[in-house]
Amino acid sequence: MRRRLREEFRRLWLEPSDPRLLQLGFSLLFLLDMGLRVAGEVELHTGPMIGLVLVPVAWVVTLTVPWTRTPEWCRVALLVFDIGLVGLSRLDPVGGSGLLVVIPALWLGLVYGVRGAAITGVSTVLLVMVPGLIYLGPTGMTISRSVTATVVAVTVALAIANVIQRVRGGQELIELQRRVGEAILDTVDVGLVLLDGNGRYLTMNRRHHDFMRLAFPAGHSGQAGQLGDVFHEDGETFVEHEDMPTYRATQGEEFDDQLIWVGSDALTRRALSVSSRVVREESGKFAGAALAYKDVTDFMRALEVKEEFVASVSHELRTPLTSINGFTSLILERDDLPDEVRHQLGVVQRNVGRLDRLVADLLQTAQVERGLVHLERERTDIAALVRQSLEAARPAVEAAGLTLVSRVPNRLVAMVDPQRFAQVIDNLVSNAVKYTPSGGRVEVDLSVTHERVELVVIDTGIGISVRDRNHVFSRFFRTRHAAQRSIQGIGLGLSITKAIVDSHGGRIEVESEEGRGSTFRVRLPLDVPVDQNLPDAEPVAAL
Ligand code: ADP
Repeated sequence: MRRRLREEFRRLWLEPSDPRLLQLGFSLLFLLDMGLRVAGEVELHTGPMIGLVLVPVAWVVTLTVPWTRTPEWCRVALLVFDIGLVGLSRLDPVGGSGLLVVIPALWLGLVYGVRGAAITGVSTVLLVMVPGLIYLGPTGMTISRSVTATVVAVTVALAIANVIQRVRGGQELIELQRRVGEAILDTVDVGLVLLDGNGRYLTMNRRHHDFMRLAFPAGHSGQAGQLGDVFHEDGETFVEHEDMPTYRATQGEEFDDQLIWVGSDALTRRALSVSSRVVREESGKFAGAALAYKDVTDFMRALEVKEEFVASVSHELRTPLTSINGFTSLILERDDLPDEVRHQLGVVQRNVGRLDRLVADLLQTAQVERGLVHLERERTDIAALVRQSLEAARPAVEAAGLTLVSRVPNRLVAMVDPQRFAQVIDNLVSNAVKYTPSGGRVEVDLSVTHERVELVVIDTGIGISVRDRNHVFSRFFRTRHAAQRSIQGIGLGLSITKAIVDSHGGRIEVESEEGRGSTFRVRLPLDVPVDQNLPDAEPVAAL
């Protein structure tokens, strides 16, 4: 309401089309001047009397004229008429207040700029100065008063014309900047949204309008957090109010790469990766947020196709491998095999075993990528799992000429998936053995620290550089060092290990120094009470 009043006042006062408010102000000041003269017991002469009659008449006329439809000269005529009224008010032996001319001068300068100032000057000279001088006679006093009124009126009109010109220039510049900004935002292939401090949409670019139509086919209220055809990464579960990117942003959250699908039609829906940044006032108060929506549909579809391809190829490869493995074992069971054939079949079997592990890793990676780390948790003695893994690693440890030391309690029970967790231990131990040159040492510690299971695998091997440390858990990543030394591997083991640890709610970390060795540390929440575990033991196995 207040805003509307302000707008209306602004329109009446500043818009050139409607002089009603101005005329009211002028009339009141004119009447005040006359009233004060009468109160000061000055007798009003013909000129001011005519003015006194004409002022209300002019005000009534101004009220009745449909100004929006009248030509411009009518408004100029009204203002010149006002200057004439000021001239009339001065046709008195004691003179009058010529300063009232400032009001029409202001308006003329405001609305018609320099042209208005010129009209002011000419009208004041013709209607105020000349009649005044004729009526009162050209004395020093009357000349001074007339000239002052004219100069003041023209100066005021020019000054206001100048100010308005600057303001308009500034506004035009701001408008131009706004349009340039909008044009730039519209050329970007990313949806952009700006929210204010109350979560209302301030602005968005054209790209985002397209996303909004998909997500909110029935329309949007313009308030952050509205529910719509917005789905989680799986493309099926609706995103709830608290998880909507705009709502999170209004809670002051900054995030990157929240993946959502928008649209319910499988053919036209888009996958968007959303980031948010908060805007704060100098005091630190939340002032709004900016969100960017990047279209990653093609990438997601390519990923889906690749995963399906890897999964089906891996699956198809496994069947013949199982058959080769089976028949090789059968042949090896025969007693009449020459030694050389037995040896060659042994090589075949080892390589089939390697291929089988590789295919299993690929298959598992494809499943992990699709978020399919299915856990079958049960009470598991992790200490037993570690011992089994160390036992299995013993031949490789001996072949590599390493020392293996372990500190493992008799029993450590936790709720884990035994098969998956055995895979974690196997991967870490086999890497430590693989990446430690002969004469080195591998140490495996299992303990409970701060209500967490902690598995630590330490080696004195080739180590990992600072630069590579952040990447060792990425799929297919191998350090240059490992590849150069022709150490076998394809860079899947640690990514699978991390996925398994993560899905157990745990963390895996690595500390390493190139050339000196590495320490891999796995921490898992212990959801089985400590007192159900046998007390921690001193080293029970040193191989
Ligand atoms: P792979 O061993 O099959 O290459 P991983 O995913 O298990 O794959 O390991 C990824 C990479 O991390 C390895 O190629 C190697 O460069 C590095 N790495 C892993 N474990 C160790 C370790 N204990 N010491 C040095 N480098 C390691």
